[in-house]
Amino acid sequence: MKVLIAEDEPVSRRVLESFLRKWGYDVLVTCDGSEAWEIFQKPDPPNLIISDWMMPDMDGLELCRKIRGIERSGYTYFIILTAKGRKEDVIQGFQAGADDFLVKPFDKEEMKYRIRIGERIIRLEQQILHLATTDSLTGVLIRRAFMERIEAEIHRSDRENAPFSLIFSDIDFFKKINDNYGHQVGDIVLQKFSGELTKSARPYDFVGRYGGEEFVVCLPGVDKVQCRVVAERMRKRVEEMKVMLPGGSQSVRITASFGAASLSMESKENADSLIKRADEAMYRAKLEGRNRVCMASGN
Ligand code: GH3
Ligand code: MG
Ligand code: MG
Ligand code: MG
Repeated sequence: MKVLIAEDEPVSRRVLESFLRKWGYDVLVTCDGSEAWEIFQKPDPPNLIISDWMMPDMDGLELCRKIRGIERSGYTYFIILTAKGRKEDVIQGFQAGADDFLVKPFDKEEMKYRIRIGERIIRLEQQILHLATTDSLTGVLIRRAFMERIEAEIHRSDRENAPFSLIFSDIDFFKKINDNYGHQVGDIVLQKFSGELTKSARPYDFVGRYGGEEFVVCLPGVDKVQCRVVAERMRKRVEEMKVMLPGGSQSVRITASFGAASLSMESKENADSLIKRADEAMYRAKLEGRNRVCMASGN
């Protein structure tokens, strides 16, 4: 877990840093609030902050207020570590949004366990977030989480003028799987299918369950030409995949239809429009005989 220290006094800073490293944390060190704030705004910010109160530029309380004032996914656990130990100071610290308040000089063991409390809260929050955003059957993002992510990624692509593509996939004749083998086998097929899409994707791509047997794959940084290649690779892998039935003596094979669309840079296209075009292309793939990739019209 990533822990950030904000402390202007060099000796305290070094002592705290060496303890934290010994306890196994990934430590970032800053000398004042504004430096900590800068680091915090970069991608993948720390989960826990231990901040001094009195520092030049921006003090610890202001840092805490600023952090509480912005929206981010994932909680930031904030510990104030200060020489100011009067009751009013502690209250002021909590009013600024701190989770914990420790007075210098601190006791090493107490500090260790207070950080552990923060870590526990962060982990719980991460588990809740995971449960709230992933589909329990397939482990990919549920529709709402997927839509939030895609909107953020489209903004980023716009800003960076980078391409962005989306693949809409739908299992062919899936109803027959349920009818012939039962719903449980249908569920296994869904798991295998989404697993295959995930395996064909890169780490920064993301997969979501759009509906029953419909899945979307988002490809940041990928243009139309590359997108077709990825979709074709997915189609082929699904076609070659064997899904073993419970018992292990019988297997089923499936195919899927794919529609691919790339973000139109000129028209400032939004997520709904991109998904709609990919869905229409997928529908065309169905009409043209299924088990194929169709590219969306436009861009
Ligand atoms: P097409 O090739 O045109 O896509 O035909 P299809 O049979 O795949 O499409 P249709 O939309 O008729 O059927 C989709 C089926 O997916 C119907 C529904 O019962 C099934 N389904 C949706 N969600 C689940 C699920 O979570 N588990 C299982 N086992 N089946 C599901
Ligand atoms: Mg200080
Ligand atoms: Mg469908
Ligand atoms: Mg289908």
